[in-house]
Amino acid sequence: MDALERAAAVIEGSPLVTLACHVTPDGDALGSMLAMHLLCRSQGKSSVASWPEPFVVAPHYTYLPGLHVVTKPNDFPEAPPVMVTFDCGSLDRLNELAEPAREAGELIVVDHHATNESYGSVNVLDADAAASAVMVYRLAQRLGWPLTRDVAICLYTGIVTDTGRFQYSNTSPDVLEIATELSRFGLPIADMSRQLFEEHRFAYMQLVAAVLQRAELDAERRFVATWITRNDLERFGVELDEAEGLIDLVRRTAEADVSCVLKESADGTKVSLRSVTDFDVAAVAMKFGGGGHRAAAGFTGPPPLPEVVEAIRAELPRV
Ligand code: AMP
Ligand code: MN
Ligand code: MN
Repeated sequence: MDALERAAAVIEGSPLVTLACHVTPDGDALGSMLAMHLLCRSQGKSSVASWPEPFVVAPHYTYLPGLHVVTKPNDFPEAPPVMVTFDCGSLDRLNELAEPAREAGELIVVDHHATNESYGSVNVLDADAAASAVMVYRLAQRLGWPLTRDVAICLYTGIVTDTGRFQYSNTSPDVLEIATELSRFGLPIADMSRQLFEEHRFAYMQLVAAVLQRAELDAERRFVATWITRNDLERFGVELDEAEGLIDLVRRTAEADVSCVLKESADGTKVSLRSVTDFDVAAVAMKFGGGGHRAAAGFTGPPPLPEVVEAIRAELPRV
């Protein structure tokens, strides 16, 4: 029996399924978890879905169906019979929900990170899958559970965000076929795109101007970096979640192969890395205790910011 089959059997056999995704969830983490949450509900199966504090979602994800029936991490069962994690490569990205994961009767890990630590009792892993949402789509098929429009909205969100709107090299025929299937549910594609990728408050636009102004380019290492301090957030009245897409702007720099955005937060410096060549930024992130994919990776490091930038720069070859 393969892992997908075992995961389906475990879920099928449990009256209660608990679901969690990684801290500061992105479109794929939320989309794949909420899709499974809504699928369980449509099958009359009890499910609980949560993610670690801060228990908020970025403004671009507020349209996701199922967000009104999520559970605070504090109210998550302490020792659930079955727990499923989504888009989460290691237990430490679950923060306070790592404890219920350790205590769970069965722990199913649904993920596509190459750096996944196989921390479950059932590990449904595929580093070639474009998104965890693709794996939830396959799981639903294996379970024989029909999709609904709301489920399709969640899965499409995971796919469209993790493929960068079908632009990255993970945009396979397989993922395009799944997106086609999902689009048959009459998805509000234009509205989702606008909210996910285009729309920002004016305050955020002004913060971007200041942050791009201070960006540093190391032409020798083909490396560009910039940072957001807590003072910036206060000055412009912007929340950290709103700035998730900033790295996508910085990585447009023609003179750089590797780009980096650092964000000061209450729990340390959040670092986003991107590569537009074969250079593997997940390997760099792993040296700092993080992980991710070859082209997109991250870690959380200690302050102060200039030292973190220097440490990353030192990992890059002169070209
Ligand atoms: P981000 O830059 O936050 O969009 O993250 C890019 C990729 O790196 C995603 O695939 C994340 O799952 C991964 N990643 C980000 N932060 C961490 C972290 N602290 N530990 C492990 N992986 C991370
Ligand atoms: Mn993710
Ligand atoms: Mn993902």
